[in-house]
Amino acid sequence: MRGRAGRADTSIVEPQATARPLLARPARLFLATRTYLAARRTPVPVIARDPRTAERKEAMPQRLDVFLAVGHGVEDNGIFDPGAIGTDGRMEHMEAFQVCTFALAAMRRSGLTVISETAQGASHDPDFKGSARRANELNPRVAIEVHFDSHNGVPGYSGLYVSDQGKQLAAKIGAAFQARNLPRAADVERPELLFLNSTSMPALIPEINRVHDYPAQVNQTQGEALAEGVCDFLGQPFKPPAGGPDEISHPHPHPHPHDNGQVTENSKLLAAPRAPASQVREFLLGRSHGGYTDDDVETIVDSYYATATAVGLDPLLVVAQMSEETGHLTSFWSQRPRRNFAGIGVTGKEGVGNKFPSLTAGIRAHTGRLLAYVLPTGAENPAQAALITEALQARDLPADRRGIAPTLAGLSGKWAMDKGYAAKVAAVANQIRNA
Ligand SMILES: [Zn+2]
Repeated sequence: MRGRAGRADTSIVEPQATARPLLARPARLFLATRTYLAARRTPVPVIARDPRTAERKEAMPQRLDVFLAVGHGVEDNGIFDPGAIGTDGRMEHMEAFQVCTFALAAMRRSGLTVISETAQGASHDPDFKGSARRANELNPRVAIEVHFDSHNGVPGYSGLYVSDQGKQLAAKIGAAFQARNLPRAADVERPELLFLNSTSMPALIPEINRVHDYPAQVNQTQGEALAEGVCDFLGQPFKPPAGGPDEISHPHPHPHPHDNGQVTENSKLLAAPRAPASQVREFLLGRSHGGYTDDDVETIVDSYYATATAVGLDPLLVVAQMSEETGHLTSFWSQRPRRNFAGIGVTGKEGVGNKFPSLTAGIRAHTGRLLAYVLPTGAENPAQAALITEALQARDLPADRRGIAPTLAGLSGKWAMDKGYAAKVAAVANQIRNA
């Protein structure tokens, strides 16, 4: 979370009003999102600590154990903040999201009650206001926001804390990292961080490691360590994974319902990424990709990952659909100057189809349109609603299409006439995953 060096200029997605070609983006706009580490003058409103309220909360038999937040993500204005960028192009938010998914599973398995941002598809504004407010509303026993450090930052787990209890929590988690032979760095007192100084319970910002696209197996181990440390701190017995601790280091981790299972027609579109961006890049770069250069392909994949993740869609499925629609970026309509990555408005009649002025615009139009198929009207959060509105401005969508595709199966015969359409998209997704 500390540094923002790297290829950040290609990974932020702006709303259409300010959209411009990704590579021509001036750095100063990015700087505008970097204020979250600075001390804040305006404190976040903390829930009233009226003694009666406190008593009532104490008396409640089931106080929430853990609020688990994912570092970075969507700001209030709908702009996606990816956090630090690894030398391999990996976005911090994506990596933290995956660790939280594993940590959530391990905590629940151990009997803790947890509310995680991973279940909600979007994250907080980068200055911590959103997650601090949420923590105070939920009043859990501990509040944790997972981050990775910049690519040249601290190698290994480091807990950022302000309170003594936060420090103890950092140490418990650190011990669980060490027990798994994961790298460990010193914990750091950070009194200026809003998530730590404006929350009313023990709070911690674990910096898992330098940001990098770690294998799912490593992130699972990191998530398990996080969960075990929290259990230890809360006095809750930690329940290891079903196959015992050895399972964690098995080269083929047990299929996870959200991350590791094969993609089928029944796979949900609102889900954590089922494959890292690096695998998608490898897949596309290994095939002819029309008039797009290798750099273009990387830009397109990163932009898809940023856009889809910001609204809770599994980016793998969105890119798989793009690849299916465009013959992995070789179709006429996918090329410049059309940049239509999903056959939007393409009827087969010569010259009929949507054209987009930038890669970003084409990717946002596709992702938002797909999201409209996934979510019924009224079920969107603000970021989702904004993207759908933007996408449907490019081409209207009949009302009876809204929310019909929570899984890929809903797209068959609707997005495309082909009854086998969902199976084809799933097949591409699995080809990418197994590449
Ligand atoms: Zn961060």
